[in-house]
Amino acid sequence: MHDDNHAIVFDVQRFSLHDGPGIRTTVFFKGCPLRCAWCQNPESWHARPEIAFYRHRCRGCLECLPACREKAIVPYVDRRIDYTRCTGCGECTDACVQTALRVVGRVWTVADLVSELVKDSDYFEESGGGITLSGGEPMQQAGFLRTLLPELKRRHFHVAMETCGQFVWERIERLLPFLDLILFDLKLMAPDSHQAFTGCSNGRILKNFARLSRVFSHLRARLPVIPGINDSRTNILNTAVFLLKNGQDSICLLPYHNLGESKISSLNTDQKRLGIKPRTAHDLDRVKVLFEANGVKATISG
Ligand code: SF4
Ligand code: SF4
Repeated sequence: MHDDNHAIVFDVQRFSLHDGPGIRTTVFFKGCPLRCAWCQNPESWHARPEIAFYRHRCRGCLECLPACREKAIVPYVDRRIDYTRCTGCGECTDACVQTALRVVGRVWTVADLVSELVKDSDYFEESGGGITLSGGEPMQQAGFLRTLLPELKRRHFHVAMETCGQFVWERIERLLPFLDLILFDLKLMAPDSHQAFTGCSNGRILKNFARLSRVFSHLRARLPVIPGINDSRTNILNTAVFLLKNGQDSICLLPYHNLGESKISSLNTDQKRLGIKPRTAHDLDRVKVLFEANGVKATISG
């Protein structure tokens, strides 16, 4: 479904202020190799369009039922889609006047995406902003980026990429000349904890970070601070040691919020509710102080 000219994107968000310098337009690619327990965007996990069902909007009329050729509409109170049959075609969404059904993710060509992004050129120019590739994991659609990025470069756009770091090195190597900034999210330093909370070991991620830090001068480390999971003294100290060993002396702390959990009931996901409260500014300050006591300058994202 995605190739050198087609990508699955689930959102193009304008006027973002936190994904790089200036005013940015953020492109959210669908598909991710990680399954972070705290994921804010569980709709990004699968690299295909999916149907979301918003139960609070549904009035149970079943107008959607005859629209589905796959017999994937089910007549239960709390469930409308049989995801084992649903292809994500979206036919049922037109039948639902309540907008209780929505397709998440659609296929974009390079030309379509470029013409969408060009609309924001004035904002980029005035604010020193640009485009941020996010997700999901943009590197899951590296073939598409190989075609897209030269087009953006040709138009002199500042391009940042947010990544979880789980990618094949040879694929990013070819993209580096077209990137102005890489925002690289570290999560947990202990391999077993990383495996337990993200479904993936951190071996390749740490190796990729180390390689990038040697060859790419605009690499920025970030840490989503997840209360009780990765904000321990040990994880902070080990992260600081790792950064300094790789010539990085700063990190951006991303506060946790549980917005992702509100999406769980609408999606076909096995994500569990963590039930943890976002930390206060004071708690984030403690993490910041710990980093700084260990030689790493920390900023807190707004
Ligand atoms: S058409 Fe919409 S409101 Fe009616 S049953 Fe289907 S999902 Fe619910
Ligand atoms: S998205 Fe397509 S296959 Fe899935 S329930 Fe709707 S009509 Fe059926």
